[in-house]
Amino acid sequence: MTRHTKIVATLGPASNDAATLEKLIRAGVDVVRLNFSHGSADDHVARARTVREAAARVGRPVGILADLQGPKIRVGKFAEGKVELDNGKRFVLDAACALGDGERVGLDYKDLPKDVRAGDVLLLDDGRIVLDVAYVRGSEIHTVVRHGGELSNNKGINRQGGGLSAPALTAKDMEDIKTAADIGVDYVAISFPKSAADMYMARQLMRAAGGRALAIAKIERVEAVGALDEILDASDGVMVARGDLAVEVGDAAVPALQKKMIRMARERNKLAITATQMMESMILSPVPTRAEVSDVANAVLDGTDAVMLSAETASGKYPVQTVEAMARVCLEAEKSHEVTLDREFLDRVFTRIDQSIAMAAIWTAHHLKVKAIAALTESGSTALWMSRLNCGVPVYALTPSAAAQTKMCLYREVYPLLMKQMHTDREALLYDAEQLLIEAGVVDKGDLIVLTIGEPIGTPGGTNTLKIVRVGEHSPPAGT
Ligand code: PEP
Repeated sequence: MTRHTKIVATLGPASNDAATLEKLIRAGVDVVRLNFSHGSADDHVARARTVREAAARVGRPVGILADLQGPKIRVGKFAEGKVELDNGKRFVLDAACALGDGERVGLDYKDLPKDVRAGDVLLLDDGRIVLDVAYVRGSEIHTVVRHGGELSNNKGINRQGGGLSAPALTAKDMEDIKTAADIGVDYVAISFPKSAADMYMARQLMRAAGGRALAIAKIERVEAVGALDEILDASDGVMVARGDLAVEVGDAAVPALQKKMIRMARERNKLAITATQMMESMILSPVPTRAEVSDVANAVLDGTDAVMLSAETASGKYPVQTVEAMARVCLEAEKSHEVTLDREFLDRVFTRIDQSIAMAAIWTAHHLKVKAIAALTESGSTALWMSRLNCGVPVYALTPSAAAQTKMCLYREVYPLLMKQMHTDREALLYDAEQLLIEAGVVDKGDLIVLTIGEPIGTPGGTNTLKIVRVGEHSPPAGT
């Protein structure tokens, strides 16, 4: 059985080596995430090379996602590496403090004292530690510990309810965009965007650096939730970044937001990735909890394009088993995903010829119950439109472009196959397409498929033809 939902795995010390990467890809990883919060530019370049070599050995395309650090607002370092904060005690966050102790700690983000007021609630280390702001004096934020515990170097800070003024793209992110463009990543994830302007800027920087990556907005700020429409317009997709989002909006609000974001993304022909703590217990355990299995399955039923692993594959003890378990859960959940063509699409307005053909292909494939849809595509956009509607027929995207192939690794229910050559002769091209599908083991001679193509052949965005094909009806080019 072919899995529809894609798996994104974060790389780290547990998974950077060639042998583990190869096992991860065989286990089902479709996209790797390079986390730019850790490591140097050289590390990322080397990792991307190892990924591509491993993917070539396995014979499966693997996309690469560069996840920018963004303005992670953090405490500084402690002389002893960590301190214990007791409930009810005073603790100072001081932008001028160089090295912290049990009474105060420094701040990476020096403007934090200007952003907070008495009565604000600050959440440290993903909400594990809660501080009530008593008053602010100059560079110092004086707080009372509500929920204490161990606080170690460089832990993140959020304000409950959001509203911190730190810009989305830091100087480091701008440099990292250049590295991501040099690597030729397929997607770049922008951390903490507040508005469409943040996404436009990231895109511009990517284009200026010569990159063609799709832009994914990580929705993790209160402001981003309020600006979802405009952010989606400015992006190619969203990541439901549940870690920081839960801290800002409250954990109980996240499940409904996840459903809303995935629905909105699909309706607007955009991608959705569901992220964070999906298989958290597998960092230490070889099996997931029942709750994690349900969480992954529910994301599948919500219609997410991909489910993402973070520490589970970056630093966990069982990276390969985690991917295997996730793949198994996705497959099972997909069996119960009802195939009902969303009827609202009949009323949707589209003016592009290629989009009209994509919609017609979905409609035809659904009703004729064909074995597969084959979209001959240069850019991948036909396959994206097709994958936004759940018609129950897999979409094989046949492309001569290696870049388009890895970009499509994230699209739900799309299986990108690379065509070695793109004949300009129609009969020869269709014969090659049939052969590629037969060799991939997804169709047999005599199966009915729906095929879309642009004529004259070789024009990106030129899809204008839908053909219903009985596999085997085209002849090999003369002389072969
Ligand atoms: C998140 O906060 O859920 C997330 C995906 O971001 P990061 O892992 O970069 O903190």
